[in-house]
Amino acid sequence: MVEIQDVHKFFGELHVLKGVSLEVEAGEVCTILGPSGSGKSTLLRCVNVLEEIQAGSIHVDGILMGYGQDAEGRLYELRPKELAAQRAPIGMVFQRFNLFPHMTALENVVEAPIKVKGANKSKAKAKASELLERVGLAERADHYPAQLSGGQAQRVAIARALAMEPDLMLFDEPTSALDPELVGEVLAVMQDLAASGMTMLVVTHEMGFAREVSDTVVFMDQGSIVESGSPEDVLVNPSNQRTRDFLDKVL
Ligand code: ATP
Ligand code: MG
Repeated sequence: MVEIQDVHKFFGELHVLKGVSLEVEAGEVCTILGPSGSGKSTLLRCVNVLEEIQAGSIHVDGILMGYGQDAEGRLYELRPKELAAQRAPIGMVFQRFNLFPHMTALENVVEAPIKVKGANKSKAKAKASELLERVGLAERADHYPAQLSGGQAQRVAIARALAMEPDLMLFDEPTSALDPELVGEVLAVMQDLAASGMTMLVVTHEMGFAREVSDTVVFMDQGSIVESGSPEDVLVNPSNQRTRDFLDKVL
């Protein structure tokens, strides 16, 4: 489903991803751990082409991200509109809920299906209501982001991503900006999504989630994947010293 092959990313002189390879099967949850600055967010952003890569390749659902093929089968860099279409099946949820402040929860959720996919308005609304119900926010549909708690806002952000019917969901520390008592409600929605068979790539410091929900845990340090495997392998019996040092600090 996701095939990341020998990806290199530079910001100017700074070599941020140093040959990262990672595969995630359909329906799997892969959690990425690692210290600040190790390249976790950059890796996620490369997957949906929010960042360009300088070497290597990323395929999602068999499609080479960032490129199209002309009639002769030659690769070309996608234009912005084509890129938007290629990205449509990939949902992303960030640390800071980037909801539109002037729209209600429901309006936030219906926005993209109507604008990007040209969905029928009343159908999109019905679907959005269902999604808000799924994340436990049926009664908050008409609230504006400023009237929601951080945990509620983040659940709206998840519903908004799901409204595009993604095949893959990317989460970049979705709970790290939340008050501790609100973390659980967002993790519960993510766990539910994982149980429904969604393919997920999740950057998080929530070790409970990593242990309970992930199929694979990946530990990154200084732009490389240092260790990957089952939660048991990586979190309980890490073979790498850098993984052990990191876990000692966070556990
Ligand atoms: P954190 O846990 O703090 O979120 P991270 O693992 O997500 O860290 P990244 O945000 O991917 O790390 O950053 C990796 C490196 O790339 C860091 O050295 C960072 O300063 C650098 N970097 C990230 N974005 C940019 C950018 N737009 N321009 C220049 N350097 C950047
Ligand atoms: Mg980050």
